[in-house]
Amino acid sequence: MISDFHIHSVYSDGDLLPSEIAERYRVNGFDRIAITDHIDFSNLDVVEKLTKISKEIENIELVVGAELTFTPVDKIEKLAEKARSCGAEVIVMHGESPVEPVPDGTNIAAIESGLIDILAHPGYITDEVAEKAREQNVYLEITTRCGHCYTNGHVAKKAIEHNAPLIINSDAHHLKDLLTPKKAMKVGLGAGIPKKLVKEIIHENPDKLYSRKTTNKT
Ligand SMILES: [Zn+2]
Ligand SMILES: [Zn+2]
Repeated sequence: MISDFHIHSVYSDGDLLPSEIAERYRVNGFDRIAITDHIDFSNLDVVEKLTKISKEIENIELVVGAELTFTPVDKIEKLAEKARSCGAEVIVMHGESPVEPVPDGTNIAAIESGLIDILAHPGYITDEVAEKAREQNVYLEITTRCGHCYTNGHVAKKAIEHNAPLIINSDAHHLKDLLTPKKAMKVGLGAGIPKKLVKEIIHENPDKLYSRKTTNKT
């Protein structure tokens, strides 16, 4: 199964409606995607909208997600709980990207909350972040998004050293950003990850992440 677990729609700052994103990803050869619009405490209704549309989309598996963005560090847990109770199945934390002023301590606080599935574009991660991601089974993101991707090589190196799980996502906002399996492969290899491991990250890690979630639910 091929998946992309970090995509934005018109419900936050993306260009496309969920139904168009779904169809275009099906055409690109994907089996499952998570739409993870930006949320803070003001717009949790976005998660409810995604829940509604996910029930109607049948051409691809559409997972309801949310990306906690620029959240004060001491409010991460509260917002993640709210997103979960509104129906978010995959929770992405907008990590400490090298190109945005994300609050210091976001990476560690997100992992320690125990409620985050993916730490997106985590930037210049420390050994402590990589080690805690392994302990908590939080997926560290290799991103195909411009700017955020500057630290892909660093993230990959630290994740491999500490045996923390990796995932490759697009963080797509526009039509040109939508992922293809070929692009995911290129970006994984470009981050210095060995080919065998890139294949595993693309083909197996999203399943592991998602099946863990469905097991937790029961
Ligand atoms: Zn955005
Ligand atoms: Zn994003």
